[in-house]
Amino acid sequence: MPSTIAAFDRMGEENAFAVLARATELGRQGRDIINLGIGQPDFATPPNVVEAAVRALRDGHHGYTPATGILPLREALAADLHRRLGVTVSPDNIAVVPGGKVTMFAAILMFGEPGVEIVYPDPGFPIYRSMIEFTGATPVPLPMREANGFAFSAEEALALLGPRTRLVILNSPANPTGGVTPKAEVDAFVAGLERFPEVAVLSDEIYGQMTYDGLAHTSLLAYPSLRDRLIMLDGWSKTYAMTGWRMGYAVWPDGLIDRLRKLAVNCWSCVNAPAQWAGIEALTGPQDAVHAMVAEFDRRRRVVVEGLNALPGVSCATPKGAFYAFPNIAATGWRAKPLAAALLETAGVATIGGPDFGVHGEGYIRLSYADSIPNIRRALERMGEFLANTT
Ligand code: PLP
Repeated sequence: MPSTIAAFDRMGEENAFAVLARATELGRQGRDIINLGIGQPDFATPPNVVEAAVRALRDGHHGYTPATGILPLREALAADLHRRLGVTVSPDNIAVVPGGKVTMFAAILMFGEPGVEIVYPDPGFPIYRSMIEFTGATPVPLPMREANGFAFSAEEALALLGPRTRLVILNSPANPTGGVTPKAEVDAFVAGLERFPEVAVLSDEIYGQMTYDGLAHTSLLAYPSLRDRLIMLDGWSKTYAMTGWRMGYAVWPDGLIDRLRKLAVNCWSCVNAPAQWAGIEALTGPQDAVHAMVAEFDRRRRVVVEGLNALPGVSCATPKGAFYAFPNIAATGWRAKPLAAALLETAGVATIGGPDFGVHGEGYIRLSYADSIPNIRRALERMGEFLANTT
């Protein structure tokens, strides 16, 4: 791995943070901005979880913990995975880390180096590509096409694999599209992977509990043939509205968990102790808040999709998971990034241009429906007025 400044210069960023900064700045100037740009729940962390953190602080949980997390938390995670997905995972294979991104960083760092290829979803979470570039590996985009429900095609994914492929990154339910890859497609991909025993898989399942219309989440953990080469990424950020707590975890194979532990010892020591105790409460306490949030996202999803499809030149497939809509704006005559910028500056609606998520994102913008229904309706009205005046 090239440990030079040049590697840092190859790193990208998440434009959602730049849009958030600009939206905040416009707000400070007195503008009324509706922020559908940032990907974080607008709900507060459930009060029982907050209380558990306060209690942990009062009880004196102030020191370092084991590098991969306290055992009761890893046991609670193993029990949660069994309850939700019916899979058996040893707490010894679980590492709690400061947010979902840290697993992503560690996994890509372990497999990426010049001369190897890493396949990643496009459009997809921008940090995948950024980290691949950081390691000097060659990023190989896996198209997530609208015609395919913003899921990958197993055939297309397998055709991208070759002797230089070391890692494939998958993400379902997906950011930025809300696409959910059907189980049949995952089955076909996993079966095909048997021809590529050297290829590891990073499955980003951070939106795994956010699916709609009764759709079940297909976890890659459910495939025994993958267990010795699968890293399953998840976390508390989205499910429990805990983005600022920096709590993530992953299930790692035997051969990699100790390397992750060493990285933790060298880099962050452990996740902050009270947050870990709160994490136990999140998993083992009542899940009503999670269900209520998903039900509210579902209501908003319907409002967003209906509203977007009524706008001139816009068509929006119904997202099946996460809390994003990814409308096709090609028929407006606008390119995606200038449209997102003009919507923010002129109409006061923050969205993200599709190209910020990859080359296959041109022609789309991302709206995060992590805002109230009245605000979503106001945003749609403003977008309608804007498009009527400019197209
Ligand atoms: N993976 C995906 C697909 C995401 O959309 C995000 C956040 O937006 C993350 C991972 C990062 O999660 P965290 O905030 O826990 O680092």
